[in-house]
Amino acid sequence: MTTETKPTSEATTYQMLIDGKRLPAKSGLTFERLNPANGEPVGTYPLADTVDVDLAVAAARRAFDSGTWSNAPAKQRHDVLRKVADSLRAQIGPLATMLAQEVGKPLNMAIGEIAMAADVYEYFAGVALDMRGESITQFVPDAVGLTVHEPVGVVGMITPWNFPVLLVSWKLAPALAAGCTVVAKPAQLTSGTTIELGRIIQEAGAPNGVVNVVTGPGSKIGQHLAEHPMIDKIAFTGSTEVGKAVMRAAASNVKKISLELGGKSPNIIFPDANIDAAVVGAFFGIYLNAGQVCQAGSRLPIHESIKDEFVEKLVNFTKTVKLGDPLDPTTTMGPVVDQNQFNTVEHYIEAGKQEGARALIGGSRATGDGLAKGLFIQPTIFDGVRNDMTIAQEEIFGPVLSVMTFKDVDEALQLANDTMYGLAAAVWTRDINTALKMAKGIRAGTVWVNAYHTAGLPFMPYGGYKQSGIGRELGRQGLEGYLETKAIQIKLS
Ligand code: NAP
Ligand code: MG
Repeated sequence: MTTETKPTSEATTYQMLIDGKRLPAKSGLTFERLNPANGEPVGTYPLADTVDVDLAVAAARRAFDSGTWSNAPAKQRHDVLRKVADSLRAQIGPLATMLAQEVGKPLNMAIGEIAMAADVYEYFAGVALDMRGESITQFVPDAVGLTVHEPVGVVGMITPWNFPVLLVSWKLAPALAAGCTVVAKPAQLTSGTTIELGRIIQEAGAPNGVVNVVTGPGSKIGQHLAEHPMIDKIAFTGSTEVGKAVMRAAASNVKKISLELGGKSPNIIFPDANIDAAVVGAFFGIYLNAGQVCQAGSRLPIHESIKDEFVEKLVNFTKTVKLGDPLDPTTTMGPVVDQNQFNTVEHYIEAGKQEGARALIGGSRATGDGLAKGLFIQPTIFDGVRNDMTIAQEEIFGPVLSVMTFKDVDEALQLANDTMYGLAAAVWTRDINTALKMAKGIRAGTVWVNAYHTAGLPFMPYGGYKQSGIGRELGRQGLEGYLETKAIQIKLS
């Protein structure tokens, strides 16, 4: 395993991956990504237009229809996925360095993301060997029914910048296990790591055209993928607003869709919890990846009897956050991803103040040694938040936490569910009745009890209720999203 973590001294020039070839955009145009920690160039990528996307879709369609992958023996698909897991582990140092610079996340978090992605390929390599249908014979004596599963076809994948390697892997691994072919469009801010992933999958033995990567603006080429008549399914992760646009575009040829969207997840603290563990859970719940996490625990309802004690501990812990260069091993929080995101977070901090919430810590841009050229925001805790305030209802996607109080289980449940989102929630308690009443009552795709952010396990299904999405990724259900079911009915004669 190489652990080389040299920063890129000059921006790397990347090409797209289309039909096994590395290609620039037909127009020759490119775009650049700047490191959000210091404004220096990280990478230059082809600025694709719809004509480039059409080439990639045609390649994926040909590859699918030829059967070289969709009809390959399960063992072949297993072997490729296993090799991808091995390569990710072998190349974790350089990949994590690139990831840290593209996103602005601390290097050890980037290493963790690549390691989790490797686990996903390993898991679905196993699943690829164990795909099976049913036989249904008991209803009439002279007939046999079989169900067989077949790959859904060509899949367009549109992914965000916050976990650019992991989230596309949640899609690629099951899609490849199922036998689908793919055109992936990463977020422009983080295109390089997806291109590298495409290279790794190709080198692991995926035939030409099975995985294609196109880079460019979502509003143009993402939209084109979502509308494309030769694509069978769109798998999207991103904001709820863009998810709705993708859904509308996908209606044109009734594509299958899966959507992993935003959240405003409650992290609920009961008085009988292990308080020190819950403080750590609240801390990582909001500050991981500078709060740019769909499942961030951005609302913190605390039982009124322990609120002051809990908040004091959390504020003290928050003072230990070390903002800085993602490649500095002492950094625990990096910058936010770009100027737009920075402006959005500042806007919400202002809205919190205007609506009467009180910043106990943070509440503005972070300045200080080495931070001047970067987009750093102080970790911020607002007290006195009502659940109808803007900062409690809208996804901020930054290190901004809203503290609120409740009196009893019923009020906690009401608060938890008073949101258009339903991605995740956590409950901290040692009482099994409280834990189960909350876990069953909360309308969200994941509920943790005495934990936060452990959803990356490839074995557990992941996805949202309400406006947090459609469908599930990971686990057995993650595979089903890439399969059609065919019913074969045989009459004996
Ligand atoms: P975003 O703005 O919705 O973008 C997501 C992807 O969609 C990007 O690749 C983007 O391309 C593309 N896109 C933009 N407009 C499009 C259009 N009209 N048609 C098709 N594609 C289009 O989200 P983001 O800013 O990257 O990420 C933050 C959001 O993602 C948050 O809301 C967060 O909650 C959500 N998220 C959800 C999960 C989950 O699993 N539920 C996980 C992570 C993030 P460009 O950016 O290149 O233009
Ligand atoms: Mg965006």
